[in-house]
Amino acid sequence: MFFITRFIKNRIGSIKGFGSCPNCDDCWSWKKQNTVMYSDFSGVLICEECLSKPQLLDIKRIEKKLSYYGWDRLNIALVRTALYKLKEGKE
Ligand SMILES: [Zn+2]
Repeated sequence: MFFITRFIKNRIGSIKGFGSCPNCDDCWSWKKQNTVMYSDFSGVLICEECLSKPQLLDIKRIEKKLSYYGWDRLNIALVRTALYKLKEGKE
């Protein structure tokens, strides 16, 4: 049941034009977003639920998503570094 409602909520959110978490694909229309800063002024949005378990972040998947959204290589590399630090608990 959880997966069905999640699917429907994500469908409705994407129809309304909301983006989604690059780690779990859940839509911002119903998921709380949080920011991981990867430089002094720039951050990437990842949902609070995913960030509550940073060791489970799928960095490869997030990189693919960002590249699909048109992010440039430099920023993706900075995001990768920030996420690895987060996973290792250095931040
Ligand atoms: Zn997420």
